[in-house]
Amino acid sequence: MTRLAGWGGVPAVDARERVGESLPEVCRPASLTRGLGRSYGDASLPARTGAIVASTRLGDRVLAFDRVAGVLRAEAGFRLSQLEELTRPAGWVSPVVPGTRHVTLGGMVASDIHGKNHHVAGCFGAHVRSLVLQVADGRELEVGPDRESELFAATLGGMGLTGHILEVEVALLAIACPWLVIEVEPAPDLGALVARLRAASRTWPYTVAWADALSRGARLGRGIVIKGRWAEPGEAPATSPLHSRVDSRLAVPCNLPSWVLGPTSVRIFDALFYRAHCWSAGRRVVHPDRFFHALDSIRDWNRLYGARGFVQHQSVLPDEAGDERIVRYFETITRHSGASFLTVVKDCGAEGRGLLSFPRPGISVALDLPMRGAATQALVDALNRHVLDAGGRIYLAKDALTRREDFAAMEPRLAAFDAVRRLWDPERRLRSALSARLLGDPA
Ligand SMILES: Cc1cc2nc3c(=O)[nH]c(=O)nc-3n(C[C@H](O)[C@H](O)[C@H](O)COP(=O)(O)OP(=O)(O)OC[C@H]3O[C@@H](n4cnc5c(N)ncnc54)[C@H](O)[C@@H]3O)c2cc1C
Repeated sequence: MTRLAGWGGVPAVDARERVGESLPEVCRPASLTRGLGRSYGDASLPARTGAIVASTRLGDRVLAFDRVAGVLRAEAGFRLSQLEELTRPAGWVSPVVPGTRHVTLGGMVASDIHGKNHHVAGCFGAHVRSLVLQVADGRELEVGPDRESELFAATLGGMGLTGHILEVEVALLAIACPWLVIEVEPAPDLGALVARLRAASRTWPYTVAWADALSRGARLGRGIVIKGRWAEPGEAPATSPLHSRVDSRLAVPCNLPSWVLGPTSVRIFDALFYRAHCWSAGRRVVHPDRFFHALDSIRDWNRLYGARGFVQHQSVLPDEAGDERIVRYFETITRHSGASFLTVVKDCGAEGRGLLSFPRPGISVALDLPMRGAATQALVDALNRHVLDAGGRIYLAKDALTRREDFAAMEPRLAAFDAVRRLWDPERRLRSALSARLLGDPA
């Protein structure tokens, strides 16, 4: 038995993990497949203790890389970090990347991840040309936008519940130069932050904001907007830029005591972070890791939250709900002393093809919340009430505490997703702790 947990450390489940180089064999008896466990909550955990979980970490071969067309086919356990090392020198990058390089292609598809360029590029699934999927009865199928398209759509963002993804073929993004031009712009309050983020998204392909979710009153939601684009060859520095690549020599050696990330230390961090970025506002050229995967610079940073772990809550509040809703959302966070160490705000673009994919047009807010039992549950419930009232939704890859009835009320797309599952897996052989919690699957 192996104790498995997501990146937040809660919950944890003892499971029988199968690891091996042949993914079809590893996956066949399993009720769920798992990549590197970088989803935060219970998405990569089995529905019950002792269930078999397939790990894809040894199934990471490149099957084809067309350097002219920029198309890569690889096994599902191939990691984004490996992809970047292989394709970047050839002038190609993943069209969509999350905030960490330590994820697998299978995990990127199953979560239908979005990046800082969602407003122009959509989710990862928009660039997937085909998948090899082992469905619940053991058959292997090639699926894609024009082949078993409903099953394909349910698999994008389907959190591993439609089949074991064995292979992924993805169209990459061409870049002229491997450096990134970034611009940092402070915003003194939430209104300015959201307005500047939206304005930036009209002209920059990559945008993101960090918000101080503890300051109140006139400073509520003050923060930093960071914009980025790939550099043109003329902008490339002669030597490696000062802010060069992220390496992981720094590490958190063990779980720290839970007071380390309490409200006081987070308040100090937020104030220093804001001031530091005000001083360094402006434009510069950086290594892409610095912009895309800054958190990877500290290995095992999740241990900062101590043995009790943390949960993330990410939601999108539709533009139609109005900016007043975003203000009320932030007021709820400060009222509960949420002490979110990292509060990331993004501007999401159009909804994609994935039947349960997260993004839709609106403002997404992601909070890291130290796990404090009932108080954290109460905060998540309160945030979900805003999400429901606004007609928004939550991101399953980050969730651990949303209640089934709230999720059902947020997700009019559930019936379509359920219909695909009924067709391909009527006995619900494929299930997870998340699907038991949110979809009523048997444990
Ligand atoms: C620091 C950090 C930053 C992040 N930033 C972002 C971000 O900016 N945008 C974003 O969208 N996400 C982000 N994430 C979330 C992360 O990108 C996703 O959770 C991703 O799915 C994790 O990949 P993984 O390989 O670790 O998958 P796991 O966490 O192991 O699994 C995630 C889900 O995918 C399923 N799955 C995995 N492999 C397969 C397979 N081969 N077949 C079928 N199902 C499979 C699992 O069952 C599970 O439901 C971030 C996570 C971290 C830790």
